[in-house]
Amino acid sequence: MKILFLDQSGKPGGAELCLIDIAKPYRDNCLVGLFADGDFKTLLEKNQIPVQVLTTQIIQVRKESSFAQGLASLEQLIPLLTKVVQTAREYDLIYANTQKALVVGAIASFLSGRPLVYHLHDILSPEHFSQTNRRIAVTAANRASLVIANSQASKAAFIEAGGRADITTVIYNGFDPQNYQTDKSIIHQTRQQLGLENKFVVGHFSRLAPWKGQHILIEALKQCPQQVTAILVGDALFGEQEYVQKLHQQIASLGLENRVKFLGFRSDIPQLMSACDLVAHTSTAAEPFGRVIVEAMLCGKPVIAAKAGGAIELVEHGINGFLSTPGKSQELAQMITTCLQEPEKTAMIANHAQTTASQRFDVKNINQQIAQQLLKKL
Ligand code: UDP
Repeated sequence: MKILFLDQSGKPGGAELCLIDIAKPYRDNCLVGLFADGDFKTLLEKNQIPVQVLTTQIIQVRKESSFAQGLASLEQLIPLLTKVVQTAREYDLIYANTQKALVVGAIASFLSGRPLVYHLHDILSPEHFSQTNRRIAVTAANRASLVIANSQASKAAFIEAGGRADITTVIYNGFDPQNYQTDKSIIHQTRQQLGLENKFVVGHFSRLAPWKGQHILIEALKQCPQQVTAILVGDALFGEQEYVQKLHQQIASLGLENRVKFLGFRSDIPQLMSACDLVAHTSTAAEPFGRVIVEAMLCGKPVIAAKAGGAIELVEHGINGFLSTPGKSQELAQMITTCLQEPEKTAMIANHAQTTASQRFDVKNINQQIAQQLLKKL
């Protein structure tokens, strides 16, 4: 099966990292077409996945864009569309991995006669998207042969926004559990390098953006015992510099300069997670899936996740992790403190999570599920 994958991003967010795992089995017979250059392209190349940047023009539509702004961007899309249609004719199927890719993919599917698959990585709710964007996404997605939603939460929001239930199926992100095994010596070395010996380290792994809620963890930290320290791993991928400044101000005003470290975007997530005592996920809006939650489990680390969206499907409170109310720093602080004070019970939960997540999210099974679905649509 020859697949043309489309993704609008040059930057490696969760959807893009997921696409690497999906495209790998097709690397001899696929092309990933990107609408922007950047580190994601380099990552695909490192994984020997054929990639081409299909346009160098920035498409101006943002998640909150209005209809008029959307229309203005159509003109920019024409050269890109022409290229995608031509390219699609050499492939059996178009697989759109992001919303702008979906819009381009839907038109290209119509013009080239190739079936369209849409991988939905978003919760199409008013919290995340303007009404116009939701309408465009749903209209385009309803033309697809198959919509793969990354969680029941994403599927439910899609249907609520007018999406077709009959073409939608849920397939979770897949992971290779082996990638999350880290030697004790490397863990020791990492903690040493970061100056984290004798600390209780809470890791936060996410791009820096207001809805990812790094500020909630900082607020919680102030209410935790002194040895609790946080590392914030991730960068402002989509221009949220103002939020980064606010985080620094918040840290200074709470006197937490010695207890929070910003590590920027990193590609050694398994090692860093393994060097933590706990991973916190603090999104204030419903998370569509939450890769970091599964990754923490695979590293054998206890995880506290914000109780909303896909996170609820991944975590059973007190069984394979902990769920805290989104935005409630006091509750989060209490949970972190309990994990610190009850290491044996916490480790048991983390071990159980590691075993079950290794099976439930095994990339081999997940890729098989996707392959079966794709074959049905050809
Ligand atoms: N991530 C990364 N480097 C960083 C921070 C995050 O590679 O510095 C990865 C993280 O391990 C996860 C992904 O980015 O695989 C984020 O996915 P998630 O579903 O948690 O959130 P999204 O970015 O899709 O909103």
